[in-house]
Parts: sequence; structure tokens; C-alpha cells
Amino acid sequence: MHFIDVGQGDSELIVTKDKAVLIDSGEREYSGTVIQYIKALGIEKLDYIICTHPHSDHIGGMYAIIEDVGADTVIMPKVSDELVPTTSAFSRLLDSIESTGAAVKYAQAGSMLTLAEGSYIELLSPVNDYEDLNNYSIACRFIHGANAFLFTGDIEKDAESDILDSGADVRADVIKVPHHGSHTSSSYDFVKAVSPDYAVFEVGSPNDYGHPHKETLKTYEDIGCTMLRTDLNGSIVFTADGNTVTYETEK
Ligand SMILES: [Zn+2]
Repeated sequence: MHFIDVGQGDSELIVTKDKAVLIDSGEREYSGTVIQYIKALGIEKLDYIICTHPHSDHIGGMYAIIEDVGADTVIMPKVSDELVPTTSAFSRLLDSIESTGAAVKYAQAGSMLTLAEGSYIELLSPVNDYEDLNNYSIACRFIHGANAFLFTGDIEKDAESDILDSGADVRADVIKVPHHGSHTSSSYDFVKAVSPDYAVFEVGSPNDYGHPHKETLKTYEDIGCTMLRTDLNGSIVFTADGNTVTYETEK
């Protein structure tokens, strides 16, 4: 499980014995970093790409990854018509999907992607319609034996409470902290339900938003977990053997 340092943005890579899944790409300027990272692991093509939501700090570089590395299936949230972006990042993404012939699927909460026996990803959201793109983020849980990782994109408190209300199991050893540690996310009830041993903040140093916010750090401190940050630790790699989780950091 790789949390790739892409500055102020998100990029996570799940690698199992013979499958690879990329969640988000970071901004366009980091596409080379992510492509190199993927290729250095010997991955020739991605099985799935999950675009959590169409903001440039999540999908800005995805077109280049799709064109260079390729993917069988690209999963994205179906957002309401008035929120469909008109940005160049989003239109480049759609062009790259079309030109490479990748399949597109809209995220359905409750659907599963099987990666190997005992290893799968459950999509948890979006479970509702929202007025902003952050809440439309695809949250998903990767399960490998007794280990679980929760990826959250930029969901905010509304989407967090909808996920809890949906009855989904959110417990995880490791959480990708929603929305770069913004105080608009990580409600105490949500974090408590996840009950992580490790919280990973994907943030740039410095960034314009003051992420991670101190209230958010306090929430994870109160829960009592180890906090890791891409701005301080660089890329972070977790290894899960189905029972235990270990990690290494670049810095
Ligand atoms: Zn973001």
C-alpha cells in the first residue's frame, strides 16, 4: 500500500500479488513522479484506477498515467449534472480514457472489486447527492485477510455521516485522512468508527489551506493512533500480510 508523495494532493497505490490499483494521481506536475513510481515496481498496466472526485489535486495528472501506463477500468463518481466539471484536467482525463479504450464505471456503494482470494476493495460512497464535489468522493475500503485500509478522498462531514448511516463497515488499520486533514472532515464519530492504528495525511509543505488543521490532528491524537504525513515523511509504504501491518517512510 503506497501513499505517494505528490505535494498538496492525493495518490495511493494498492499492489497485490498480481493486481494494481491506483487511487488518484495528484496534480498534473506530479504525473511523471507517479508514472516512475508505478514503473519502478514493475507494474505494466493498472487493473483499476479510482478517481475519487474530479478536482485537480486528485485527477490533474491522471490523463498522463492512463496514456503512459494504461488501465483496464477507470472508476469515478456519478456527480449531479450541474457539478460536472468543465476544467481542462477533467476533459483531458475523459480524452485519455477514450483514446486508450479503458472501460469507465460509475461508483456504486456496496460494489466489490476482487483483487485476489481474500483481497478485495469495497466501494463505500457516494451514497447520496451533494452540492459539492468533495462530498461526492469515492471512499473505499481495501481488505486483505484481517487487515483493512480506508481511503476517503476529500469526503467531508456530510458524506462521513451518510457512510456511517449506510451501515458500511469502516473499521481500518490505516485511514487516509479525508481532505488533507481539513477540519471540515474527520468528525469524531467517523474517526472513532474507523478506529485506526495509523492515520496518513497527504499534504503539501507548505500549502495554501493550513492543512492539516490543528483540530483534526487533535481528533486523531484523542483516538490514539500513529500519524504519518507526506509533507514530513515523504512517500509512505505499508505492508499487510493479512494479520499485521508494518510501514516504512521515505523520510
Ligand atoms: Zn483534495
